[in-house]
Amino acid sequence: MSGRIVIAGAGVAGATAARTLRAEGYTGRIVLVGAEHHPPYRRPMVSKDLLAGARGLDRCLLEPERYWAQHDIDLRVATTVADIDTGRGRVWLSDGESLGYDSLLLATGARARRIEQHPPVRVRTLRDVADIGPLREAIESGPLLIIGAGLVGLEVAATARGLGGQVRILHAGATPLDRIVPQEISRVVRDLHAEHDVRIDDHVRLAGVAQIDGEGVIATASDGRTWTASSALVAIGAAPDTALARTAGIAVDNGILVDERYRTSAPGVFAAGDVASRFITRRGGHERCEHWNSALAQGAAAAKSMLGQPVSEPEVPWGWSSQYGVSLHFAGWMQPHDELIVRGSIESRNFIALALSGGALSGAVAVGRPRDIRAVRQLIASGAVRASADWADESLDLAQLVGIALSALR
Ligand SMILES: Cc1cc2nc3c(=O)[nH]c(=O)nc-3n(C[C@H](O)[C@H](O)[C@H](O)COP(=O)(O)OP(=O)(O)OC[C@H]3O[C@@H](n4cnc5c(N)ncnc54)[C@H](O)[C@@H]3O)c2cc1C
Repeated sequence: MSGRIVIAGAGVAGATAARTLRAEGYTGRIVLVGAEHHPPYRRPMVSKDLLAGARGLDRCLLEPERYWAQHDIDLRVATTVADIDTGRGRVWLSDGESLGYDSLLLATGARARRIEQHPPVRVRTLRDVADIGPLREAIESGPLLIIGAGLVGLEVAATARGLGGQVRILHAGATPLDRIVPQEISRVVRDLHAEHDVRIDDHVRLAGVAQIDGEGVIATASDGRTWTASSALVAIGAAPDTALARTAGIAVDNGILVDERYRTSAPGVFAAGDVASRFITRRGGHERCEHWNSALAQGAAAAKSMLGQPVSEPEVPWGWSSQYGVSLHFAGWMQPHDELIVRGSIESRNFIALALSGGALSGAVAVGRPRDIRAVRQLIASGAVRASADWADESLDLAQLVGIALSALR
């Protein structure tokens, strides 16, 4: 098959799409356009080994630098897709070049949310490799105030402590990681950080963060409480980078809207990864996901869709985190009213908490049990219904339950 496919965004979704196109035998031109100055790399390492200085970027690349040319993928770094004419099937790049396309994939990812449009100099965010240097300096000249107790905020706290930095965390919710794990489990996270001298203040509605005479920052809550530090990191989540799609008149609503085949509202234009909000029939609506594995799977599936191949059902979303050497894995769609069953021991940080809805597994969080999460994903996808006692019975391991669920489906 010949022609030209342009991919906007060289994160894991865009890069995986390019790799998949070649692996599936596409012989046309592939232009992979990335705003960052580096070849595609493992973004999860940004808050972990890269920030810690434990690995260099060369050891976090998705592929060796030579891979892209070897596979005839025209990788343009430090370049953006600046504009799209969806009617004529043409894009304009930031260097002035214009390219026609048969298919265009928007894989522009997400951007770190900010609290103010023009934050003070000592207030940082963390998304890209380019953000690491200034954050390292902020940690070294500490103390650092982290605003947000989500995955990125907590991981940075753990990495900063490993570097000997002083850290305090403020967040709006009642418990850390409250968007991902139930309250019963989030105390594990709080205790873990407390053991490393990181205090987490809950229920902080921030009114603003200001610079103090170039010396530091002061955060003020709406109830009048204040915190001072040398610098602050705002880690309050990410927003899909839909600017390019919006300007081109492509339908957007908390992400670029795509159907089950990753098609946007514009002909020949697809979207995948953190930026895409995909319609999922079995969930009855659009869903956007911000996990590495989902972006990877979506990039591969969108490539197949661009080639006219069948596209499989979306995977059950799952992600992971690592803090102070403790691994945390989560999967599915846990809801606050779900029944919670814990296998293993919360105290010894070796457990999996299963969330049940109507006897079926809706989600899970595992600490220290990475292998269980694979079985959990299969069990969620199977929709298998069992009595609560069965889910709790540790003499039946989760892999055995998968076997039983799959044989019942045959
Ligand atoms: C610090 C950090 C740690 C994380 N840790 C984990 C983890 O432990 N586990 C996990 O599951 N997930 C983790 N994630 C989330 C995971 O990294 C993302 O879900 C994943 O990287 C999304 O991939 P993507 O390709 O969709 O988007 P992105 O990785 O955001 O890549 C999009 C790329 O497109 C570029 N771009 C934007 N606009 C344009 C344009 N117009 N033209 C060209 N290029 C453009 C951007 O600069 C960016 O390089 C983490 C995220 C961060 C920020």
